[in-house]
Amino acid sequence: MDIFEQLARKLDELPEGFPATESGVELKILREIFSPDEAEMALMMRPGPETAEDIAERLGKPVVEMGTLLDDMVRKGQIGSLKMDGRQVYRLVPFVVGIYEYQRGDRLTRELAELFEEYLPLLSKKLGGHGPHLTRVVPINTGIKADLQILQHEDVRQIIEKAKSFRVQDCICRREQALLGNRCEYTLKNCLQYSMEEGAYDYFKLDGDIISKEEALIIIDETEKEGLVHNTYNVEEAIGGFICNCCPCCCGLLRCLKEFNAPYILARSRYVATIDLDSCESCGICRDERCPMDAIVEDDGEYRVEGERCIGCGVCVVTCPSESIILVDRPESDRDEMAENMIDWGKRRLEERGRHAG
Ligand code: SF4
Ligand code: SF4
Ligand code: SF4
Repeated sequence: MDIFEQLARKLDELPEGFPATESGVELKILREIFSPDEAEMALMMRPGPETAEDIAERLGKPVVEMGTLLDDMVRKGQIGSLKMDGRQVYRLVPFVVGIYEYQRGDRLTRELAELFEEYLPLLSKKLGGHGPHLTRVVPINTGIKADLQILQHEDVRQIIEKAKSFRVQDCICRREQALLGNRCEYTLKNCLQYSMEEGAYDYFKLDGDIISKEEALIIIDETEKEGLVHNTYNVEEAIGGFICNCCPCCCGLLRCLKEFNAPYILARSRYVATIDLDSCESCGICRDERCPMDAIVEDDGEYRVEGERCIGCGVCVVTCPSESIILVDRPESDRDEMAENMIDWGKRRLEERGRHAG
């Protein structure tokens, strides 16, 4: 087994998975991203966080040499690094959400975009074929029925309020589609990362910008006006993560739901949209310009929401001229599950995939 096959197998052992294909496209992807030496180093990484000193000691290498190598691999998006309890730590990250999304700037080439596009149908079918869901929709909460409780993790502004550091970078899915000749009109640079640590993004100068909390909140306002769907990790508590703002045309997650029959890629929010027929003016904006899931249908001038297609994003609510759409609670028996934290999520996902936590 060559080094890329070994790395592919190791990535497939992570909770998210990295399925093998008959064509071997996943190996071509790894060859685009890693040199053989880098693949060998990635193979020696652990999914749990370790400092450069810990890794150097474990592998019997000089600390400075190891630090330089790890930093270089982080800049190339081959491994992950984050600040935890004031220390910079490094870890093996999954292919998605992880290595692929880290291919910033020139690292995302047309060749890589084409290979990813070839891999996406099988990748999404396997990753989205079992729970718990990879990511979850965070609803635009201005649309939630007034007397309903909104939990902290269901409110994108509360998630941001709690965090201490923020970064914004280009949306990889929109960049990928642009490279393939399908550039959409939505804003490119609004993929947010947040962390509960102060100065979490100071160590690495990566493509994208470090921004303030106020700037992050402005980006959220703008994405809601544009009709983008917020989503994040499918857990209640996270020490940091991403807030993706997804468009229906390019987003891998939304496309997986609609095109590739991969239900466990994106969990719906706890809500479902409903239209008040008495006040609805039948303008069609919600169906024609807003809903990313084609969940709103029209019958003889009457608009209604197809609950099983609705992901509870609230995108339709924002522009309804007569305020006829609201988000109401989805019946408890029909809700998508959410894990408490990433550890719980990873364990449950490995169980669902018939694997054991290492
Ligand atoms: S998942 Fe959505 S927001 Fe995130 S990179 Fe893809 S389109 Fe952009
Ligand atoms: S946007 Fe509002 S008024 Fe227009 S069709 Fe939809 S629910 Fe009715
Ligand atoms: S009807 Fe469409 S836009 Fe409205 S909440 Fe459901 S999925 Fe989102």
